[in-house]
Parts: sequence; C-alpha cells; structure tokens
Amino acid sequence: MSRRSIVAGNWKMNGSPDSIKQLMDALLEHNLADLKCDIIVCPPALFVERVLGVAGNRVAVGAQNVNENDKGAFTGEISAQMLKSIGCKYAIVGHSERRQLFAETSEQVALKASALLELGLTPILCVGETLEQREGGETLSVVKSQIDAVVNQCGIKAFERIVIAYEPVWAIGTGKTASPQQAQEVHSAIRMDLAKQDKSIAEGVSILYGGSVKADNAAELFSEADIDGGLIGGASLIAEDFYQICRAAG
Ligand code: PEP
Repeated sequence: MSRRSIVAGNWKMNGSPDSIKQLMDALLEHNLADLKCDIIVCPPALFVERVLGVAGNRVAVGAQNVNENDKGAFTGEISAQMLKSIGCKYAIVGHSERRQLFAETSEQVALKASALLELGLTPILCVGETLEQREGGETLSVVKSQIDAVVNQCGIKAFERIVIAYEPVWAIGTGKTASPQQAQEVHSAIRMDLAKQDKSIAEGVSILYGGSVKADNAAELFSEADIDGGLIGGASLIAEDFYQICRAAG
C-alpha cells in the first residue's frame, strides 16, 4: 500500500517576523509542486497565522503544541478550536521537549491528540526513547506504551488520521542520527504492533523519523520501507536544506 510521504519542519522557539518571511520566501522559490511529499511547517504559535498567510496551498501549517481542554482558565495555552479557527490543520503533540521540560505525560498527550481529532485536525504524535532507555533495552516497550496511551484514549481507528513521528530523544538536536537500520527496526515494530489491532490502519499510517535529519542523510533514512518521511528540527530553519530534505522524500 502506498502511504503519504510527509516532511514536517519543527521550528521550535526560533524566528522573528523578518526571519520567518525570509525562510518562507526562500522555500517557496522552489518548485514544490513537483514534489510528491506533503510539506508541513510548524512555527511558534505566535507566528502560525502569519505563516498561514503566505504558505499557499503547497505548504500546510501546524502548531507545536495544543492544550487538551476546550477553553477556560489555562493561562498561556492555546486550544484546538483556536488553531482550527485560523486554518491550522496540524499540531505536534508529545514532542520529547514537552514530555521532558514540561512534564507532559503520555495520558495528557493522548488527550491533546483527542482534542485535535475531535475538531478534524491532524496530530503529529511524537514518540521515542531516551539514551538510558535504549541502553537498557527498553526502546520498543517505551515507544509502545506511548502509542498505547493514544490507542486507549482515541481508539485504533483514530490512527487513520494521526501521523506518528519516531524521534529517539538521544538523536534530537545532538547531531547523532539513528542509523537507517536502527530507525527502520523501530518503525517496523510500531507498524507490526498496530497491525495486531488493525492491519489496514497499520499499513496506512505514515511514520516519520526525526532526530538530526539533514540534507545529506535524509535520502538514506527515507529509503527504508517503514520510514515515510521526517520531522525536522534544526535543518527546517534553513530553507535550502529543508527543501533538499523534501526532495529526498519524493
Ligand atoms: C525535533 O525537534 O523534532 C528534531 C527532530 O530536531 P533535530 O532535527 O534538530 O534533531
């Protein structure tokens, strides 16, 4: 079965009105229409609407986080409804920086995914192990439990509308990429595990790899059978590099 190939850029807490304009102008100078992959950029929340205004129809825009509640006394937070109201189609949930720095639990991440799905937005669900967990042989069980939390909350059918991003924590922003074989092993385990519950959902779900993907290692990673594109941090801030990564995804 052919799956959507997707490249998503996570800009994290970077950028200014000027730098974002330059980045988008430089990206949109390329002939993106010829590429087959879906392209998504996830600016800081403050700039999502601005980027939506210039992105055109070839680049989709996502947020980097969402609050799991509908509305109310949650100072500093943004709801799925707010994202939807400005035309945002995606949001990253469960990024390891949010799990680690903001103590988000897998159950909370599942509620965030659920809030997005209810309004028709697509969650980009990040999962991944720390170095300590990898060295302790816990990689597959950690990733499975992070995904199971979402299955338990939203049901297996929800994975028709969820994008998974496998991001080993030790590879994020460190310059250490998982080898294509290491990544493929986890991607295939995720797919096999979902297949136990629903074969066709498992076949159809796009599983992105994230963790120090660069223009020069993307093609090799994306050539693996179960790697359907990438979630890109640092390299998504450099238009030419991000474009080359999109090209590598087809
Ligand atoms: C990320 O933060 O999602 C990420 C993959 O970062 P980087 O590409 O910089 O490792």
